[in-house]
Amino acid sequence: MREDDVALAYGGGWVDRAGALRADPDRLATLLGAVDTRVLPLWQDRCLVNGTAPVRLSGEAAARAHVAARETVFLGFAAGRAVFAVDLSELAEDAALAAVGATRVVDVRGLVGPLSPAEAAIQAYARGLLHWHRQQRYCGTCGGSTSVQDAGHARRCADPTCARLYFPRIEPAIIVLVETAGSTGRCLLARHAGAAEGAFSTLAGFVEVGETLEDAVRREVAEEAGVVVTDVAYQGSQAWPFPAGLMVGFRATAVSDEIRVDGVELLEARWFTRAELRQRAAVGHPLGRLDSIGHHLLSSWLAEDEAAASAPR
Ligand SMILES: [Zn+2]
Repeated sequence: MREDDVALAYGGGWVDRAGALRADPDRLATLLGAVDTRVLPLWQDRCLVNGTAPVRLSGEAAARAHVAARETVFLGFAAGRAVFAVDLSELAEDAALAAVGATRVVDVRGLVGPLSPAEAAIQAYARGLLHWHRQQRYCGTCGGSTSVQDAGHARRCADPTCARLYFPRIEPAIIVLVETAGSTGRCLLARHAGAAEGAFSTLAGFVEVGETLEDAVRREVAEEAGVVVTDVAYQGSQAWPFPAGLMVGFRATAVSDEIRVDGVELLEARWFTRAELRQRAAVGHPLGRLDSIGHHLLSSWLAEDEAAASAPR
């Protein structure tokens, strides 16, 4: 998988983050009041929508509804327009809906079909950033309250003797497609704890302190499936702000075919050929969530077989 082969949901550089403006409160105040500015209101991580369209207020309308008076963060510019996000989580749901003229709240992951890739990415960016603000209201060092800095891209402890600065937290996780060695062409999929009967997916797990991403791949596969892997190769990454993830995709090669699941994280695991995966997909077993890098790891693996079959001999 190359980055120009697939556009993974929630990323893609749709926003000019205009980082230099974060230290320019006068310019930001002017932008926030501008007619063509867009303010994205969110409520408890969810989009406020009419039908399937997330509400976007003009800066003027946000000010009129006193929405922008709340903690507002600057996301950047999209299609030439300044974009801000505002968190209405402290309101009751009905009050949040009424404040912006929305009819319901929906998670952005439930809107990936109807939303354009750019809109989904911006909404996810807003979700992740506003979520972090709600989690970082207090200083972890002295317990004092924190306040917004840098237009929403940092928070600082209000106690002047502490003044610790906090940046949005991102939690990296690896996701890996493990293949058998040689030309046998099988990949390792597992049914995770809590997954439905027959729902197999790629292995994944959080990176631990003191590990490289490659260390985390080798550890997760060994711990969960009892499989030793080598040739760990980076495939791509995906922003996954639900609430704070960054998914980093790999392929790796198994040293042996023997599997020993841990019975905790994984309930079962087995090797699948491409033909088996296609048969499963045909009878309603999807290759993971369509918006996920796991789906892309699997679908690109399947496509290699097709590419080989159609190559001139
Ligand atoms: Zn502090």
